[in-house]
Amino acid sequence: MKILAFETSCDETSCAVVEDGKKVLSCIIASQIDIFKNYGGVIPEIASREHIKQITQCYEKALEEANITINNIDLIATTTNPGLIGSLLVGVECAKTLSYIYNKPIIGVNHIYGHIYANNIEHDIKFPSLAVVLSGGHSEFTLMDKHNSYKKIGHTKDDAIGETFDKVARILDLEYPGGPKLEKLARKGKNTYNLPIAMHNEKYNLSFSGLKSACINLVHNSKQRNEEINKADLAASFQYSAVKQITDKIEMILNDNKDIKQIMLAGGVAANTYIREQIQEVANKYNIEFIYPKILYCTDNAAMIGAAAYYKYQNQGPDNLNIVASPND
Ligand code: AMP
Ligand code: MG
Repeated sequence: MKILAFETSCDETSCAVVEDGKKVLSCIIASQIDIFKNYGGVIPEIASREHIKQITQCYEKALEEANITINNIDLIATTTNPGLIGSLLVGVECAKTLSYIYNKPIIGVNHIYGHIYANNIEHDIKFPSLAVVLSGGHSEFTLMDKHNSYKKIGHTKDDAIGETFDKVARILDLEYPGGPKLEKLARKGKNTYNLPIAMHNEKYNLSFSGLKSACINLVHNSKQRNEEINKADLAASFQYSAVKQITDKIEMILNDNKDIKQIMLAGGVAANTYIREQIQEVANKYNIEFIYPKILYCTDNAAMIGAAAYYKYQNQGPDNLNIVASPND
């Protein structure tokens, strides 16, 4: 089954052709990062206009690279939610238009499930599996006991981890998106600042706003006192506290769910090497498998949407042209 998939939930316009949920025949990504560097963050109205400029080319290129025509496509998939509504609309309406014109079945995919299925492209999900989704807009734990079955057991009560990385990076004068630059800086520093690790008694939920405020206050107070901040040490201390919270919660989940066979990491923050190392240590301690997608499939891309769409289709068949874009989970 060849699926033509669209992903436009934030600031990446992406179109891919995926065969049987596993084989990526093409994956075109037009990123808007260079545009938003000037603003220090994504501006939704600009993002949606940029998607409109890019989407036709992305779609044509994806078919060309996969060396097929739309006639050979069996199913059209698109991210429907969550995300920026103006951005989502572009992908959803494009997919619906193609579905209508070429009389192809259509299916809507939850963006988070796409991130999780990025893991199934080069590895195999083994059930029950614990998905740790860490991105610019989301931080959550989801349990899967079979394909296309998702049970969210914990999530951030305030900011997402990626957003927090970006905000702390900004006060350290690093360019947007600051997450990767903060990780690089942290490698040169040590965990010397005593920053909070949040929400120890909130079951599997997470919180990053207190940690973010602690970093901002530390920088502001130091400036007022004319004291130098060691930026590399602050980056390392922040990263330690943010990640320790996650690994502590993963251990709590593993202790409560002894049958979990695998941990999968998903979302843009999964590109962070320190996070991978720390989760790997937990996985080793509990003697379970730990998988994560290659960098290309960590950040927003349409291949992951095609991968998730395949299992949704196997499980419940297609949707219809009534699918709509929604900002909500
Ligand atoms: P997504 O929301 O899935 O598109 O992922 C984008 C988010 O991932 C942004 O907040 C980035 O700053 C963050 N990110 C990407 N690479 C890294 C990294 N190496 N360390 C920390 N955060 C990262
Ligand atoms: Mg994402």
